[in-house]
Amino acid sequence: MQEEGFIDYQKVLNNEEHAIKSTQSVIEKAIDWFRSKSMFVLAYGTGCGAIEMPPTFTSRYDIERLGVVGVATPRQADILIVSGYCSYKTLKRVIRSYEQMNEPKYVIALGSCTINGGMYWDSYNTIKRLEDYIPVDMFVNGCMPRPDALIEGFVKLQDNIKNAKKEAGYIKYNRDREFYKSNQRKILGDNIEPRYEADFLL
Ligand code: SF4
Repeated sequence: MQEEGFIDYQKVLNNEEHAIKSTQSVIEKAIDWFRSKSMFVLAYGTGCGAIEMPPTFTSRYDIERLGVVGVATPRQADILIVSGYCSYKTLKRVIRSYEQMNEPKYVIALGSCTINGGMYWDSYNTIKRLEDYIPVDMFVNGCMPRPDALIEGFVKLQDNIKNAKKEAGYIKYNRDREFYKSNQRKILGDNIEPRYEADFLL
C-alpha cells in the first residue's frame, strides 16, 4: 500500500503528461532559485537613501555574499532600487531606465517618500506614490532605511522569487500598461518612452 505523502513512481512513469509537468516545475524551481541568487542591481541612486547604498554594497555590509552585485547599465540589470523621493525630472529617468531593463526585472523602493511622498507629500514637483508609475516588488520603509533594512528587503524579495510567492511587477506592468502609461502621461506629457532626441532632455 502506498503511504501518504510518498510519490508513486510507477504512476509517474505511466503518466507522461504528469512526468513532464513535474520536470517542468522542478526546472522552474531551479531557475527561480538561481535567479534569486544572482541579482544584478543598477548602480543608480535618487534621494537621500542613495547614501545607504555604498555601505550596503561594500565591505561593511557586503551584500555580495547574498548574490547581489552592482552593474553599470540598465540592459544588464535585474533590479532597480529607487532609493528615495522622485522629482518629475527624476521620474522620467527612472521610467527610462526601467523600460531599458530586460525581463525578468524587479523594483525595490526605499523610504517613506516612495510609499506616500514622505516629507515631500505637498511638493509641487515630486511624486507621491511610486507604484502609480512603475510597479514596485518590495518596499523598504523608514526615513532613511539603514543598510540592514535594505538587506532584509533583498532577502524577502529573494524569497518571493524563489518560491514564486508574488506576481512579479514586470508582469503587472505589461498587463496594466495603460494604467501606468496614463499616470505617467498625466505628469510627464508624451515624452515618456526611451527617446534619444535632443528635445527629450529637459
Ligand atoms: S524617505 Fe526620508 S531619507 Fe528617504 S528620500 Fe525621503 S526624506 Fe530622504
